[in-house]
Amino acid sequence: MENVNGMYSIREIYRIGRGPSSSHTMGPSYACEVMLKEYPQADTFRIVLYGSLAKTGIGHRTDYAIRETLKDKVCEIVFDEEETELLHPNTMKITAIKENKELCTKTVRSIGGGAIEFDGEEIKQSEIIYPHTSFFDIESYCEEKGISIADYVFSFEDAHIKDYLRLVWDRMKATVSSGLLKDGIIPGGLNIKRRAKMLLKKGNSKSFGHEKEIYLLSAYAYAASEENAIGEQMVTAPTCGASGVLPAVLIFKQQELGFDDEEVVSALAVAGVIGNLVKHNASISGAECGCQAEIGTACTMAAAALAYLKGLSIKQIECAAEIALEHHLGLTCDPIKGLVQIPCIERNAVAAMRAVDAVSLAEMLYENRKISLDLVIKTMYETGRDLSFRYRETSEGGLASLYVAECD
Ligand code: SF4
Repeated sequence: MENVNGMYSIREIYRIGRGPSSSHTMGPSYACEVMLKEYPQADTFRIVLYGSLAKTGIGHRTDYAIRETLKDKVCEIVFDEEETELLHPNTMKITAIKENKELCTKTVRSIGGGAIEFDGEEIKQSEIIYPHTSFFDIESYCEEKGISIADYVFSFEDAHIKDYLRLVWDRMKATVSSGLLKDGIIPGGLNIKRRAKMLLKKGNSKSFGHEKEIYLLSAYAYAASEENAIGEQMVTAPTCGASGVLPAVLIFKQQELGFDDEEVVSALAVAGVIGNLVKHNASISGAECGCQAEIGTACTMAAAALAYLKGLSIKQIECAAEIALEHHLGLTCDPIKGLVQIPCIERNAVAAMRAVDAVSLAEMLYENRKISLDLVIKTMYETGRDLSFRYRETSEGGLASLYVAECD
């Protein structure tokens, strides 16, 4: 939950970078970049990883991301799994050292989606630009001005936001296209075969209908997630682990219903502000609130984007987003061996299908709806805080612990 009176640019939700984990690779790597800029004279950096960063850092390639960023320096990385008194489950300490003398030590939290916070300082990754922090307020503002949610976003963001979203959309399509071409085993030790290409073939053999939808949505979600799993270029939406849901829905629906790229750019704006609401009022970090915060948020963003593309009203968009998130409540994060593979890849496909279903339900059920999007976001945060740490990206519970017990 962000402790500020307003929301940041949706650029914070859509970061272009390398997988497999925004909080475990992008965040730590950005923190090291900041330290490197501040202490270029340092010859050594000592990095201590705590909490989820320590427990799943190897599977999530945190050490690799850090070494890549600090490649010209000596780099000592310590995985401290014992420390439990942490302000955030993804905490790290970075010490800059020159000729064995400490120059400075900073504590950093990787708060999800690649964003970071330095203890006691404000690192400005972005300015607060949205004065509203609830869907209720955004909807009231849009109604008063007679504008859509996409226009709301464009009225607060800077003049280059559409160009940025075009870049995001191009990257999403490129990631999916490249994932659809590849066969083979995903490295990491789980011996998982890539499935996207096979699902695409199956989908293309069907005429438009429910079966084709299932195969193609899954193919696109698998393609993006399989690319993420091997550390390829992708877009967080809102995180690396959940980066297959939104592109899968948008690519499939563009093919099926013929939306043009500019319409998709507007839909990305709508999805972005929904992701922003979750980030501001709850969390998009699996280490903080479980997978409901990652895949649940991706699903709610995709549902809102599709509802917007289909020309539904603001109330129907809210309803679609609310249904999509409500039925992810309680979803745990339990990646086997700390890899962003099982359950992550398949989960992206399931969430893409769920987003499409949420929009269909919202078209019919939005009247007299009892649960608001704001309420379900708040509930997700409370549920996440109540989840045992074992289910918050530590690989110590759920599938991660049972799979190891049975098979290793
Ligand atoms: S289980 Fe969900 S939250 Fe956890 S690493 Fe996988 S995608 Fe991310």
